[in-house]
Parts: sequence; structure tokens; C-alpha cells
Amino acid sequence: MDSSTEDPVCGMQVSRDSFTLEHLGIRYVFCSQQCQERFKANPHLYIGVPGKKAPKQEGIEIIKQRRFRLEQPLTDAEAAILAQALGAMMGIKHIAAEGNTISITYDLIQATAEQIETRIGQVGTQLGAGWRERLQRGFVHYFEECEVGNLEVTPHRGPHSGAL
Ligand SMILES: [Zn+2]
Repeated sequence: MDSSTEDPVCGMQVSRDSFTLEHLGIRYVFCSQQCQERFKANPHLYIGVPGKKAPKQEGIEIIKQRRFRLEQPLTDAEAAILAQALGAMMGIKHIAAEGNTISITYDLIQATAEQIETRIGQVGTQLGAGWRERLQRGFVHYFEECEVGNLEVTPHRGPHSGAL
């Protein structure tokens, strides 16, 4: 093809034969399956609704926090592994483990709950001893979710900041 187009999620220039999705009659192209999934979960975040710009276009973050309880607490070492694995994920702002309560703060523009659930499952598999099920169940059946985006609207530095 003759030209490239912009990934509406991360803003990267991508060739037109990359990951694609048709939404309301318009074809969007993405750099990766992750960006495609983010768009599919919440298209309005990236392209807005008629008469209103999308949060992504305004350059803001939508900060969410999800808190859940585990049947038994993670050890410090296990909590550190979880925090490191999730912290390396795009869009994760903060992870806290206090006793059997875990709270995860993330930017909905950059990470969907499904993507976090998948990553938590991978960490659980690594930890073994039934942690995959316990962690995923906890994350899905959370007891508190709040949107703190109104309090913390910050300029969006872009998903690739920090990379080379
Ligand atoms: Zn992308």
C-alpha cells in the first residue's frame, strides 16, 4: 500500500496491513493486538462521540482503581513479583498489597481490565499453588472500583515515553 496511518490508541504510524478493526463504518489500523483490544473495549475513549472529543484526543488519562481481597495474603516475595510484572505493563500506575487486599491503579486509555486480568493470570501461573485462580477471581470479583480521573487529570506523555 502507498501510505501509513495513525494508530488511534498509541499514535504510532502503522502500515495499512497491520491489525485492523471496522467501527461504525470506519476502518482503523493498530500497531499491535494490545492496541486493537484497547480500542475494541472502549472505542469512545479514542475517537470520542459526536460533538465531543475523546479523552485520548484531549490528551488526558482516565485513572481507575480496582481493589480486591484474596482468601490468603501473598507473601512479600510473591507481592513483589506481582508488582513488578504488573508495573512493567503499559498503563499501570500503582499497585499496593496490604495484607490480603490488593489495589491496582491504572489508566483505562492504556490498559483494559481484561488485559490486566490476563497478566495477573500469567503471574499466578508463575507463582503456582493455585494463585492463578485466586488472583483472577479476586480481580474479577473486586469489592471497590473508583474512577479518580476527575481528580488526577494530567497531561498524557504518550505510551512510548521512556523507550529509547
Ligand atoms: Zn498502538
